[in-house]
Amino acid sequence: AKADGRRHERFFTVEMDEKMQARHALEADLRAAVQNEEFELHYQPLYDLAQHRICGFEALIRWNHPVRGRVSPMEFIPLAEEVGLVVDIGRWVLRQACNDAAQWPEDIKIAVNVSAIQFSSSDLPKDVGEALAGAELSPSRLELEITESVLMENRDEALPILHALKERGIRISMDDFGTGYSSLSYLSSFPFDKIKIDKSFVNDIVANKEAHAIMRAIILLGDALGMRVTVEGVETAEQMALLEREACGEIQGYYISPPKPFGDVALMLCMPPKK
Ligand code: C2E
Ligand code: CA
Ligand code: CA
Ligand code: CA
Repeated sequence: AKADGRRHERFFTVEMDEKMQARHALEADLRAAVQNEEFELHYQPLYDLAQHRICGFEALIRWNHPVRGRVSPMEFIPLAEEVGLVVDIGRWVLRQACNDAAQWPEDIKIAVNVSAIQFSSSDLPKDVGEALAGAELSPSRLELEITESVLMENRDEALPILHALKERGIRISMDDFGTGYSSLSYLSSFPFDKIKIDKSFVNDIVANKEAHAIMRAIILLGDALGMRVTVEGVETAEQMALLEREACGEIQGYYISPPKPFGDVALMLCMPPKK
């Protein structure tokens, strides 16, 4: 039994070594990716349900590695956060997104995801200001999407930074609303312009009365607080119709369109209204 235990120990050690090596390799590739400009932004429409038209796009980063192929942001953004690379990547995203949006009609907004690390280890208002100035984009067209973890990890720093951004006319959205455990208390403590309801809340709204009721309540909550409400992950016409009946402001999801490259934005803007 003793020898057996040792064998297991050794097995796990080898496995952990391999995981570490794979991580180091990914980290090295990620560093090179920043230099080699292997990143690209895709854009997913934000669809205004009252006006039945696209009112903005969310920028979503894509990494095309020459050998690995497409690596998901769910995989590399957390690593980039851990090793500090997310600050450089985030600056690139801000600049690229603002430059791209400057070529769109004036009433089309651009939403950019901001990671917790960008809040604590960079001068975010300065980076944002430079991206806007460089692109000659009006601050009122920019929305920054932040998750609850951003605020949790930087409670004291976050509020003045958010106010500095808002004073410049930039809008702030709470991303993935409902997935954390403090979502509700944050709504009154931070100056959000918009809440984005996480896609996990949409799945059952058509078939399940309780899920429908929860969705209705969150939409009313957003309304009562004077915030715009976006529902993420809308995949079917039935979900969209239900949300329209509930007077939800905005939807985003595969039903309207998946994220697409910059070159497809003009085409998406020409789409007939979705029913
Ligand atoms: P997120 O900000 O919540 O972005 C929405 C994610 O849902 C995107 O995944 C999008 O492709 C996906 N999605 C959109 N519509 C649907 C739908 O109808 N059904 C389903 N099942 N999924 C849908 P993506 O592009 O893989 O991004 C994953 C996450 O990576 C993002 O979640 C965000 O947290 C992070 N991320 C992406 N780009 C950036 C970036 O530029 N900076 C930072 N800091 N994080 C980013
Ligand atoms: Ca987002
Ligand atoms: Ca989200
Ligand atoms: Ca997310």
